[in-house]
Amino acid sequence: MTDENPEVAEAFGREFVKGNVPEINSVRCMTCGNCVSLCKQLGPDVLEIQGESAVVARPDDCIGDGACLTACPTTAIFLMSRHDPEDPPESI
Ligand code: SF4
Repeated sequence: MTDENPEVAEAFGREFVKGNVPEINSVRCMTCGNCVSLCKQLGPDVLEIQGESAVVARPDDCIGDGACLTACPTTAIFLMSRHDPEDPPESI
C-alpha cells in the first residue's frame, strides 16, 4: 500500500519520508547507546535505553533517515518499517 501524500521531514539538506522507524532486536542489543547518542546528536532524539535494549521511545519524531542503522555495532537495527504499536516486529 502506498501513501499518496506522505509526510516529509527536512534535515541535512535532504527530504525524508516519515512513517518508518527502526526495528531493534532486543536480543542483539548490548545497550551501548550509540544509536541513542547519534539520533540525539542529529536532532530527532527518538531512541532511549529501557532495560536491556534500546527502544523507539518517540516514534512520531522519527524522520526515517536510518542513521541509527550505521551506529549499531551488533546489527541489532537493520530494518526500517511502519510503526505499529499493536503489531511489534518479530525478533530478527
Ligand atoms: S547501537 Fe545497537 S547495540 Fe547499541 S544501543 Fe543501539 S541497538 Fe543497542
